[in-house]
Amino acid sequence: MSNRDWSARDLAVLWHPCTQMKDHEDLPMIPIRRGQGAWLEDFDGNRYLDAISSWWVNLFGHANPAIGAALKDQLDTLEHVILAGFSHAPAITLAERLIRLVPAGLTRCFYADNGSAAVEVALKMSFHYWRNRGQPRKTRFITLSNSYHGETLGALAVGDVALYKDTYAPLLLTPITVPSPDCYLREPGEDWAGHSRRRFAAMAQALAEHADETAAVIVEPLVQCAGGMRMYDPVYLTLLREACNRHGVHLIADEIAVGFGRTGTLFACEQAGIRPDFLCLSKGLTGGYLPLSCVLTSDDIYAAFYDDYGTLRAFLHSHSYTGNALACRAALATLDLFAQDDVLGRNRELARQMGAAAAPLAEHPHVAEVRQTGMILAIEMVRDRATREPYPWQERRGLRVYRQALGRGVLLRPLGNVIYFMPPYVIAPEDIRLMAEVAAEGIDLATRD
Ligand code: PMP
Repeated sequence: MSNRDWSARDLAVLWHPCTQMKDHEDLPMIPIRRGQGAWLEDFDGNRYLDAISSWWVNLFGHANPAIGAALKDQLDTLEHVILAGFSHAPAITLAERLIRLVPAGLTRCFYADNGSAAVEVALKMSFHYWRNRGQPRKTRFITLSNSYHGETLGALAVGDVALYKDTYAPLLLTPITVPSPDCYLREPGEDWAGHSRRRFAAMAQALAEHADETAAVIVEPLVQCAGGMRMYDPVYLTLLREACNRHGVHLIADEIAVGFGRTGTLFACEQAGIRPDFLCLSKGLTGGYLPLSCVLTSDDIYAAFYDDYGTLRAFLHSHSYTGNALACRAALATLDLFAQDDVLGRNRELARQMGAAAAPLAEHPHVAEVRQTGMILAIEMVRDRATREPYPWQERRGLRVYRQALGRGVLLRPLGNVIYFMPPYVIAPEDIRLMAEVAAEGIDLATRD
């Protein structure tokens, strides 16, 4: 069976995520036979460097022997059991270990099975906390422009990427949207901290005006990933934590994409020295092996739900695969890999190499900015470097980069006009050079006319 055979069978029966299926009339579908480390291989034997960690989930490579061995062992012991009324060792051990790793004071772990579900849990828990505490008017959420929190209706509502959201607007609750601290928008000569601090004024005002009707503020700490890898300074989070405390509003940190070392620290919140009221984790949680998510929260929030059944204060939210044993075991094996090695230290060197390899692109006539936070690097492709005029989305320049890169054996999947690298932590130095070289070629080609 070749690529061609599998892709014909695929296109006869599958409907792919985040895809206009008609594109595949001329865009090849790539069926993958196997993965190894940072590389994928298709059925014709072509190899692709997974520069985006398969939608930001993979940390320690495909077919990682340690995670694989743990899973094989778990498979013969317990694959899954209902988590209401029952429990199991991987779920308990994982919660214990996560609580030790996350900012101090997050002492309760509620599992779900994907990122959007974790966001739904955090939103519902926050609203329900205030209700249980006698403040039922707190029904709204404050969010940042250009943010992304998932695709289910609640998560979509608190996001702000028009492409995903606008069509469904009639179905969605309406958040209070505040301008993002996104440092791409800073004034010439302004530094990241100065810009992020200045942009906080709008958030301070929204909190002052709406605190009595607001349950929580939700943010992606440090990097707005799906919104084009837009980045901001930790000072914004420090200010936000203080203001949320002052106004009696929860802070939800969605670290689904940025958690587990992507920003240079294990969790992005550490760089601001803050503890959110809800910390949402998924993606890298299982090393990219199995769907799992969790929301970590505090004793105070837990206590507001703890009462006699008849008071109906319990959090009666559930997903069938909540706390799946195999997924929890993969997560434990992933945490073992962090514990055994100085992963974050090694990543600092990889991040330095990524920055050095991509630095020449900052001079490209169609690049407005090369930005980086830890292991996330993004290149902003524009029509006019001087005015930063973007290419119209209809021209699909990013798709040209995608096609060109595939031909050169690299999986880059630009977000609109933003080309980015978010590779697995097992990427080799020569692969970093390849990734940057191919991105440069792709940008040259995509901006030729
Ligand atoms: N929040 C953020 C910050 C994300 O990046 C994503 C996924 N890209 C989600 C939530 C949703 O996670 P999932 O795709 O697992 O539903």
